[in-house]
Amino acid sequence: MNLLLAEDDAILADALTVQLRRSGFEVEHAPNGAVAEYLLLKNSYDIAILDLGLPMVDGLTVLKRLRAARRGLPVLVLTALDSLDDRVSGLNAGADDYLTKPFDFPELQARLHALLRRGRPLAAGQDLAQLNFDRAARRASVQGEALELSPREWLLLDLLLQERDRVVTKEQIVAAWAQDRGENGGGNSVEVYIHRLRRKLEGSGLQIRTVRGLGYLLEADSSAGGAPAAP
Ligand code: CA
Repeated sequence: MNLLLAEDDAILADALTVQLRRSGFEVEHAPNGAVAEYLLLKNSYDIAILDLGLPMVDGLTVLKRLRAARRGLPVLVLTALDSLDDRVSGLNAGADDYLTKPFDFPELQARLHALLRRGRPLAAGQDLAQLNFDRAARRASVQGEALELSPREWLLLDLLLQERDRVVTKEQIVAAWAQDRGENGGGNSVEVYIHRLRRKLEGSGLQIRTVRGLGYLLEADSSAGGAPAAP
């Protein structure tokens, strides 16, 4: 597995490089955003770790340019604890996951492996694990049993599926509700709908994970056993 590590903190970068190599990754290190961008566009990596606070070209810009060039490799973004705004704008720039500094290496390793396991996004109307989602017919079922979803639950599930394996922010959820129903969603009730949808997705092989301070993501339920159907 080829990995690009873009991190300007030399001590952290060295420590990570040693640990990542021990975990079986081929690691290339970029000490600034310009080198990161150059390497990412020139070489093909399986995954990248991208610090947001990079000299020369900041991480968010690197990410945007990478996505503009239609490079679909998974990117795990590293951020400082207090830069929530950066993280939210990073979501729109196409990061696949986030890790807040400081972090433990096992956590980083687990996130990297999760990203590498992910398949391509699901086209709505297909089966995913035990869930069937038919947008055109506005029908969904788990293990063949119809799901009874309120309009908001439907929109929430639709959004989570479209952004499968990516973090969906509360703002995105509220916006999806407002767009479709012409009403102001009210951020506080997002948790309520997430809770309800979680219960309805039981047995689907999918779970909604809460990413603290950022939002939610729909992913394969690792406790359910059995990998999701290949796309
Ligand atoms: Ca930095």
